[in-house]
Amino acid sequence: MTRPAHEYAALAALAEAVREHAPAAFSCSFGLEDMVILDLIARHDLRAEVFTIDTGRLHEETHALMARARARYGREIRVLFPQAEALERLVRRDGPNGFYSSLEARHACCAVRKVEPLGRALAGKRLWITGLRRGQAVTRAEVPVLAADPVHDLFKLNPLAEWTEKQVLAYLREYDVPVNALHARGYPSIGCAPCTRAVEPGEDPRAGRWWWEQPEHKECGLHVGPDGRLARTNPRSSRQPA
Ligand code: SF4
Repeated sequence: MTRPAHEYAALAALAEAVREHAPAAFSCSFGLEDMVILDLIARHDLRAEVFTIDTGRLHEETHALMARARARYGREIRVLFPQAEALERLVRRDGPNGFYSSLEARHACCAVRKVEPLGRALAGKRLWITGLRRGQAVTRAEVPVLAADPVHDLFKLNPLAEWTEKQVLAYLREYDVPVNALHARGYPSIGCAPCTRAVEPGEDPRAGRWWWEQPEHKECGLHVGPDGRLARTNPRSSRQPA
């Protein structure tokens, strides 16, 4: 079978990066792009640890897909949880849904439930693979395919950075990849349950994430650089993380 050029390029980037920058880890949140990458990694038996962060506030449909993906691919998917004491302190201070009250409170929740577990998952790794795509959001318009990540001191590979949404959907159909049942109910982008809602046809795909905030604030802190912004296009950075 002849692969489309974008699929071949993504696979080649993945294969080269996991070879050159081992050990590698893939953060999988089970969104559409992440399911493409999980399928590529599993089908081509690439050496990368697959992990996910269970924030404690995920949709049941996301857990169902997690179970389905484990059964289908037969690969270990490491699940990281927030640290219990930090979570208890956060909820004692802000309440169970404090993230609605201010941007600071929302960032504090993402910091405890997502960012801290991510740091543990990436400790000792030299490559972080993600499903970021330029077309996903204004905050992601300049996402590079490969760049040094000074925050986590490793390389970060976004193999689908240049893909279109149409190409993502075509891949999922072609290989019959399982996806989150919420996509069929108007959720193009899925995060934690209380911070995600369905969008109307024609609405921005990320409009349902933190819908009460301005578009330029709609990141959870997982992908921001030292300047608080996402990494810009900087293909094949020469900086060598330790
Ligand atoms: S997305 Fe919402 S519930 Fe999830 S960690 Fe961030 S603020 Fe908390």
